[in-house]
Amino acid sequence: PARQKLTLDDYERGILEGNRMILSRAITLIESNAPKHFDPAQELVQRVLPHTGGAIRVGITGVPGVGKSTFIEALGCTLCEAGHKVAVLAVDPSSSVSGGSILGDKTRMEYLTREPRAFIRPSPSSGTLGGVTRKSRETLLLCEAAGYDVILVETVGVGQSETTVRSMVDFFMVLVLTGAGDDLQGIKKGIIELADAIVVNKADGDNRRKALVTRADYEQILHYLRPATEGWTTGAYTCSAITKEGIEDVWNVVLRFKEKMGRSGYFRTRRSRQAMEWMDTMVKEYLHHRVAQDQAISAKRSEIQRLVESGETPPTMAAKMIIEVMERELFCR
Ligand code: GDP
Repeated sequence: PARQKLTLDDYERGILEGNRMILSRAITLIESNAPKHFDPAQELVQRVLPHTGGAIRVGITGVPGVGKSTFIEALGCTLCEAGHKVAVLAVDPSSSVSGGSILGDKTRMEYLTREPRAFIRPSPSSGTLGGVTRKSRETLLLCEAAGYDVILVETVGVGQSETTVRSMVDFFMVLVLTGAGDDLQGIKKGIIELADAIVVNKADGDNRRKALVTRADYEQILHYLRPATEGWTTGAYTCSAITKEGIEDVWNVVLRFKEKMGRSGYFRTRRSRQAMEWMDTMVKEYLHHRVAQDQAISAKRSEIQRLVESGETPPTMAAKMIIEVMERELFCR
């Protein structure tokens, strides 16, 4: 059947009723790059905003092959069985560069995909990290409004996307593999510093003993690092996403975190800081959007670009010329 056009009221009602089809379509609206979708998408986010904030937001990262999707499937199914509604989102800016997604292949999480209490959404595949970030954050809010009380945000441990995901979640978890000594040096210290928990996955079979050694090694390293969250001691844990051993223990760490940081007030502090960061990002995004849409600016830009290419105008001067056009066009100066 042809897709019926939905009004904002339809979207709003559908989301608040937890209608997955409408939620999906609303996310598609948010992810759209068509200029005409921008304002309605923003209005929709604004409308559902009072119904957001109720979920625990957990970021999960790790190199390809560490077991992220297996882990998320195991954790997600466990949580659904316990009565939670779980949304799984992915942030994968690489897809916009490579054209293929590291995260988003369809065969992953086959059980969780069939779980009616779970909602899985692959990474938006367009544009810059900034664009992907905005879309993911807004998607997260829509999922909360639709009643998902656990949001798992997955990202690959390459590039900048960990910082991005850290900036939208309450709790950030880094999955690692066994391997002591030299291997540990290979893990970027910067990522460990963002973590509220280090989880050594694949702690099963012959690997189990090694995993315990690795865990102890990470505990050592963590001892010397400043914790990612004020008042929280980042610990290292082991689990097996395949046998599910340790999965519940890891979740209990998240719950302890929520309880403790809720009491100290840091939970709220972090969220309001994140909201401020987001606002700043949005100002940049908005300007970017406006500039990209403006014909006079792009015409002038192409013209000036040639002057810079030919060496007639230095870049700084060229920038000033373009900014003057922007001020005239956007701010009527
Ligand atoms: P991702 O790239 O981080 O999403 O990793 P996957 O979840 O796709 O897992 C990569 C491979 O590791 C797959 O073959 C999994 O079956 C395997 N794997 C994942 N978790 C475990 C685990 O806990 N134990 C063992 N033995 N294998 C695992």
